[in-house]
Amino acid sequence: MNFALPAELLALKAKVRRFIAEEIVPMERDPRQTAHGPNAELRQALVEKARAHGLLTPHASTEMGGLGLSHMEKAVIFEEAAYSPLGPIALNIHAPDEGNIHLLELVATPAQKQRWLLPMVQGHIRSCFAMTEPSPGAGSDPSMMTTTAVRDGDDYLINGQKWFITGAEGASVAIIMARMEDGTATMFLTDTDRPGFILERMMDSLDSCFAGGHAVLRLENLRVPAADVLGEIGKGFRYAQLRLAPARLTHCMRWLGQARRAHEVACSYGSRRQSFGKTLGEHQGVGFMLADNEMDLHSTRLTIWHCAWVLDQGERGNVESSMAKVISSEGIWRVIDRCVQVLGGQGVTGETIVERIFRDARSFRIYDGPNEVHRMSLAKKVLSRFTEDKQ
Ligand SMILES: Cc1cc2nc3c(=O)[nH]c(=O)nc-3n(C[C@H](O)[C@H](O)[C@H](O)COP(=O)(O)OP(=O)(O)OC[C@H]3O[C@@H](n4cnc5c(N)ncnc54)[C@H](O)[C@@H]3O)c2cc1C
Repeated sequence: MNFALPAELLALKAKVRRFIAEEIVPMERDPRQTAHGPNAELRQALVEKARAHGLLTPHASTEMGGLGLSHMEKAVIFEEAAYSPLGPIALNIHAPDEGNIHLLELVATPAQKQRWLLPMVQGHIRSCFAMTEPSPGAGSDPSMMTTTAVRDGDDYLINGQKWFITGAEGASVAIIMARMEDGTATMFLTDTDRPGFILERMMDSLDSCFAGGHAVLRLENLRVPAADVLGEIGKGFRYAQLRLAPARLTHCMRWLGQARRAHEVACSYGSRRQSFGKTLGEHQGVGFMLADNEMDLHSTRLTIWHCAWVLDQGERGNVESSMAKVISSEGIWRVIDRCVQVLGGQGVTGETIVERIFRDARSFRIYDGPNEVHRMSLAKKVLSRFTEDKQ
């Protein structure tokens, strides 16, 4: 692995840093920010700023109008963009669009790309990804999927319920995972204004960083033409893996940027605020927290960079992205929690951005596979290796 970043990447990193500091951070208290994320007007204003600076959707291929960033380049740029919670919205690199764009580039037909991918890349429309269901349906275990798709002439009829669907409110297009009659799963693309695509209610959550919040959807005889199947029938779980490994890693990159911001706020406070005759940071109890933050940020970044490098070699990187997800989500959580502590009472109020980052980050240990499930699959791999070694 070469850790030296090329000059063009360093220049792009500096450009993104300047853009976030000058254009995006000043908008963090914009009243168009709601409990369910930035509203449509704020999101569009942010996207237009990134467009004007040539920074919109940098991960999309150059053919689609992006910058065609590699995974390693994304690691550097996404961390930088996420210094502000609004940065990933501005650059159009937030979940779920970022992962959906990646998947559509890999699997969609030319007609599907023209109809849905292009306007997504251009920042004109948003998308959502609908897999999770209320009990007894798919959650940590996606194989428990209960939403069904049944062939009806040239169409499929989809029935079921989905929840936690990020970005569903205001999304123009959805990718829906459904079970086929033979028990396999398929992904379907659909416009969200089709009859039978029903947004039942919004879910109130700790976070407020995703445009369109999180919704409960009811799919009632939703009619999807066979031409709108994404990829091949029965390959839904395989495509989910194609989407999940890199999408998981980009979450790590964004949360690293957020944790670094919280750390800087805590360091600034710790270096100024006096207690018992010296600055907070000079007290070992606080200085050690800041030192631990540095180490957690550093080890998280190295883990992400390694996984990005593995993906750039063309490998699937499932194990590496699983490990990166667990290491990052727990590392950044320790950092942000320590920052809250260092800030004292202000840490749990809106006086600084840290309280918001704290709320936004908690769910990362749950989505994209709860950490326990990643540990379960890693444990299986470790044990199978041990068993093989014994034979
Ligand atoms: C903010 C947010 C955004 C989301 N966005 C989307 C989205 O856009 N699209 C989508 O489809 N889904 C989305 N999800 C859903 C997410 O993927 C699920 O919440 C996750 O897969 C867990 O499923 P569940 O909530 O049903 O938890 P359950 O399956 O009920 O599990 C509950 C808990 O049990 C534990 N657990 C489960 N299995 C095991 C095991 N084998 N061993 C040990 N412990 C275990 C874990 O701690 C887990 O957190 C989102 C969730 C959140 C919180």
